[in-house]
Amino acid sequence: MKLLFLGPPGAGKGTQAISVCKKYSLVHIATGDIFRKEFSEKSKLGVLAKSYMDKGDLVPNDITIKMVKKRLSQDDCVNGFVLDGFPRDVSQAESLEKICAIDYVVEIHCPDEQIVERLEGRLVCKCGATYNIVTNSPKVCGICDECGDRLYQRDDDKSEAIRKRLEIYHGTTEPLIAFYKLKGKYIMINGMQSIDGVFNSIVSELSRKF
Ligand code: ADP
Ligand code: ADP
Ligand code: ZN
Repeated sequence: MKLLFLGPPGAGKGTQAISVCKKYSLVHIATGDIFRKEFSEKSKLGVLAKSYMDKGDLVPNDITIKMVKKRLSQDDCVNGFVLDGFPRDVSQAESLEKICAIDYVVEIHCPDEQIVERLEGRLVCKCGATYNIVTNSPKVCGICDECGDRLYQRDDDKSEAIRKRLEIYHGTTEPLIAFYKLKGKYIMINGMQSIDGVFNSIVSELSRKF
């Protein structure tokens, strides 16, 4: 399975990608997570990416595409993956087509009002796990269930950057829905369900395709 998860920031792509990857033994490739890891290691790429991310802007395409290409060429990707957060515009999607063929694109559909609520309550861990102070709290306050590390709020989960990211989503990323619909690869999932509800909907759609 070569899948792509699409949806506005905060729709639940990362949350669902982790569960879907566990169920089908796929590799989770989240471009945002890669950039954040690079930044925590203070690499040149990470520091550059962070300057765009904090403002809610997209990291330039040449950097992002090169990074994804390198990641997809690694051995663990041959059995399938979920790409989360890439592509974010048509030019990235066209570049991806030159790298490999995707089976399906899953859009997690979620209205803007819900997004702001989810992002303002989001807490994340360096290991990639995601929590929410209202809807998905960890067992111990502020501590990751998976690895025991301290959770933190992302610098871009603040109102100004959230507004900008939503604007970019609607203007630049959303046209990808039409792009993949035309190719017959599009699956729409209602993101306004519980986390388990969204997961069950994804699994039920995938079971009809594979
Ligand atoms: P979210 O999960 O909230 O949608 P991500 O973790 O996917 O956020 O991305 C965080 C930030 O990382 C984006 O706002 C952008 O600055 C940068 N980023 C991630 N993926 C891409 C990409 N494919 N192209 C350009 N920038 C990206
Ligand atoms: P994305 O990767 O699309 O940016 P996340 O998976 O990080 O989104 O989820 C955004 C926030 O919303 C997190 O705090 C997460 O715990 C929470 N969340 C995810 N899915 C749901 C859901 N179906 N209902 C309520 N909260 C959710
Ligand atoms: Zn963790």
